Amino acid sequence: METVALLPNLCMVRFPRAQVYLWHEAASLTLIDTGMAGSARSIADAIRRIGRQPEEVTRVVVTHAHPDHVGSVAEIAEWNGAEVCAHRLDAPVVRGDLPMPPPVLTDHDRPLYGSLVASAGIGPSAPAAVDRELEDGDVLDFGGGAQVIWGPGHTAGSIGIYLPKHGVLFTGDTAANVDANVMLGVFNQDRPKAIESFHRLAELDVDTACFGHGDAIVGGAAARMQAAVGLVRD
Ligand SMILES: [Zn+2]
Ligand SMILES: [Zn+2]
Repeated sequence: METVALLPNLCMVRFPRAQVYLWHEAASLTLIDTGMAGSARSIADAIRRIGRQPEEVTRVVVTHAHPDHVGSVAEIAEWNGAEVCAHRLDAPVVRGDLPMPPPVLTDHDRPLYGSLVASAGIGPSAPAAVDRELEDGDVLDFGGGAQVIWGPGHTAGSIGIYLPKHGVLFTGDTAANVDANVMLGVFNQDRPKAIESFHRLAELDVDTACFGHGDAIVGGAAARMQAAVGLVRD
C-alpha cells in the first residue's frame, strides 16, 4: 500500500488491485471507494499519516458496487458511522440484496478477467448498509459541492464524482489509465452505454482525473480524456 498526495486536499491510497481516494478538508474526511475487503486497516494508517483520524471519516462514496471498490465499506462504516452513499441502481448489490450482474466480456477483456478470477481477485465482499441512494445531479457536501454524474455501462449504477470548484473528477471504472493511456474501463456490463458515459465524463471541465485503476492525471486531464474518448470504437 502506498499513499500518493495529489492535491492539497486529495490523496490516493493505492493497493495492488484497487485504489481509494481521500478528500480531506477541515470539517470532514470523505473516502471515494474502499478497495477490496480487508483494506480498512491500511486506509486508517494512511489517514493517520496525514495527521487525521479514521473516526473523522464522515462520508464514503462508492463509484459502483464491484468488490474492488466496495470491499471494505462495512469495516470503514464501523469506525464512526460514516454515511455510505451509492447510486440507487448499485445500492442493492452493496447491501447484498442482489447479485452483481456479470460483465459482457470483449475479446480484450477475456484473458485479463480469467487471470483475475483464477487468482481470486474478484470475489464477493461483505454486505454493507447504504445510507444514501444517489441520483444523477445530486450534490454532496464536500469539495465545494461534489456533483454526482450518473454514468451507466460499467455497471448500471456507476457514477463519476465531479468537483467543479477544484476541477477534480473521480471516474470510477468508466475510464482507466493504463500505462499512461487513458481508456474505456474493462469488464463492462453494457459497453455501448459505458462509451456514452465515457463521453459524458470527457466533456467536463476537468484538471485532475482520478481513475478507478491507474495513475491519476494532475493537470490538463480533460484534453487527455477527450483524446482517449475519440479513439474508442464500438
Ligand atoms: Zn468495476
Ligand atoms: Zn475496479
